[in-house]
Amino acid sequence: MPFIIERLAVVGVGLIGGSFAIALREAGVVKTIVGIGRSKSNLEQALSLGIVDEIFYSAAEGVRNAQLVFISVPVCSIPTTVQEIATAISPGCIVTDGGSVKAEIVRDCESLVPPGCFFVGGHPIAGTEHSGAAAAFSTLYRGKRCILTPTNNTDPAALDIVSRLWEATGAVVCSMEPGRHDRILAEISHLPHVVAYALVHAVGTADAEGENVLSYTAGGFRDFTRIASSDPVMWRDIALMNREALLASIDGFSTSLAMLRQRIDSRDSQALADFFIIAKQFRDGIL
Ligand code: NAP
Repeated sequence: MPFIIERLAVVGVGLIGGSFAIALREAGVVKTIVGIGRSKSNLEQALSLGIVDEIFYSAAEGVRNAQLVFISVPVCSIPTTVQEIATAISPGCIVTDGGSVKAEIVRDCESLVPPGCFFVGGHPIAGTEHSGAAAAFSTLYRGKRCILTPTNNTDPAALDIVSRLWEATGAVVCSMEPGRHDRILAEISHLPHVVAYALVHAVGTADAEGENVLSYTAGGFRDFTRIASSDPVMWRDIALMNREALLASIDGFSTSLAMLRQRIDSRDSQALADFFIIAKQFRDGIL
């Protein structure tokens, strides 16, 4: 059945929130889009790019009369945003988010939305290393997964609307328990980001031949470390909020690295080749 969101409020009009807004506008499922944020330059850019129709610097003012609020600020600021808007949202309003960590956000936000309003946790598995409204584009979610993380408290009708909105962006929607989401994302997204940051940090601060060795980087180093150009505040928040699962992933990675180190140190050529063969098979399998 076709549906229209009369008024959508997006808190944090960056890559994720801006792309959600443009994709829904292109799909014809929203009428008015309100952008909420802190910085004049970003919000005015969002307005001039046609991503949003109105801008507000106060979340509590901006969400008034919205049927749906999408929160796409760094994860540690998502519960505080919900707290800020809780008394301003209209009865029946659905609040949802695009944060990269789910268990803590879902637990806190479910208890923060007032009775008669609904919270649905979500996370699109799509992104780039760029930030802000200028980085947003309408096809970001096309063909990508969006994980929704309903709980026993989730309203089925609100879940259905959020799911249909993501489908309207072109995303493929699936559902998962919030803790499971966080453990899986620690492995496939949060660990690669911290490893990329650690690698660039190690090489950038290494005292190698008294030279800036980064000036010699070519394709391999640049491909591997692209995600270390992502927003540091966003990744600080993700690492802190998904601390336990990420620490377990880092420990697993450290074990693999130690195993590799040992095989190089002992000149065990067969064991070293086996290690690389297994890793190559996994990598080739995802392409
Ligand atoms: P972004 O491009 O930096 O956009 C976030 C926007 O939120 C900024 O434009 C900023 O606008 C506002 N903001 C920043 N810090 C804030 C704070 N402390 N409090 C309130 N507002 C703040 O980031 P993004 O990539 O869209 O990420 C947004 C959310 O999506 C995060 O929760 C992230 O975990 C999640 N996510 C990101 C990706 C990805 O690959 N980038 C993928 C999936 C999910 P103002 O300066 O105007 O306030």
